[in-house]
Amino acid sequence: MRDTLEGRSEEEVLSELSKFLSMDVPYSRVLSSMCTNPHPIAVKAHCMFVRSNLGDPGLFPGTAEVERKLISILAGFFGDENARGYVTSGGTEGNIQAMRAARNVSGIRNGNVVVPESAHFSFLKVGDLLGLEIRKAKLDEDYRVDLGEVERLIDDRTIALVGIAGTTELGQVDDIRSLSKIAEERGIFLHVDAAFGGFVLPFLGIKDFDFRVKGVCSLTADPHKMCMATIPSGVLLFRREEYLRSLDIETPYLTSAKQCTLTGTRPGSGAVSAYAVIRHLGFEGLGRIVRECMRVTRLLKEELESYLTPVIEPVTNVVCFRCRAEKLKAELLKEGWYVSTIRRPEAIRCVIMPHVTESVALEFASCVKRVLSSSPSSFV
Ligand code: PLP
Repeated sequence: MRDTLEGRSEEEVLSELSKFLSMDVPYSRVLSSMCTNPHPIAVKAHCMFVRSNLGDPGLFPGTAEVERKLISILAGFFGDENARGYVTSGGTEGNIQAMRAARNVSGIRNGNVVVPESAHFSFLKVGDLLGLEIRKAKLDEDYRVDLGEVERLIDDRTIALVGIAGTTELGQVDDIRSLSKIAEERGIFLHVDAAFGGFVLPFLGIKDFDFRVKGVCSLTADPHKMCMATIPSGVLLFRREEYLRSLDIETPYLTSAKQCTLTGTRPGSGAVSAYAVIRHLGFEGLGRIVRECMRVTRLLKEELESYLTPVIEPVTNVVCFRCRAEKLKAELLKEGWYVSTIRRPEAIRCVIMPHVTESVALEFASCVKRVLSSSPSSFV
């Protein structure tokens, strides 16, 4: 194909793009990602609203109404129907904005935030962007944040505590009730990062991580992970209007007077695709999918546990196995499988998203067994 900037026919451009698309890895061999194939109805909704810009809501009142409805449904789902918020680009934006609100309402500049050592790397961006010191609290033997450590790290410049409901690496859930108690006693803002767990835990009967817990001030949960919305789709919720309003800046030339979001121009696709999935499947249907992922997670653990030791009993649909992780990961990649490794302890990590069906998991397990038996002492 010519490589100049002259215009090309639609057919030529699309065929070029198809080649690039075919280079991407199909999800069916991916156990390293917290994203998955979007639900077909999410794709349809995304395409319907592809021109919408929620950054200028007066021009897109219909799309803005879908966002309001989604926020209201999820506020109730996460335990406080009066919670308010907006649709973000994902957990990173949710964490940045929650910490910005905590800082703004505290009135403290150059403050610090106490996060678990297991916190997602987006908190490093939080520190850098907002000029906050990120203090990492050690974990206990179950890889939950150690509460004594949290207390030790708090001082009079602490503007927020963070708890994780579904850690990125192990899928573990911090003791949010105890964090809430500490936050309430000290009068500190508590943010829950449920980017992954938000659309998993409620379906497994775990509900004490959200606004049902009194001290929780904000929560982020990503429909583009286990809710099968199209990327980008995250949700940030605050218990109090005041927190959201602390993010407002004036927007003189738009159809709205103020904007509390991080990005200006903002896709409607995240809101409408999440709304479509929830309306179509209902929380009951979503729950069935999540519980099936959990069943397959346990199956994979059982298949491999006589070869490799799981780091923890899976709490969510993530299972990690102790091994010489980089070596095993590289060997599995040669066989076309994508897994990731975690920071501590040395282990490979498998996320069982909806595309990892029982047959995919069994095929993966037999590949792992084959690789391990080819050189038994190399990987453990
Ligand atoms: N928080 C947690 C717990 C996560 O697992 C992730 C991503 O995996 C994020 C935040 C960041 O989400 P995103 O990549 O959508 O910004």
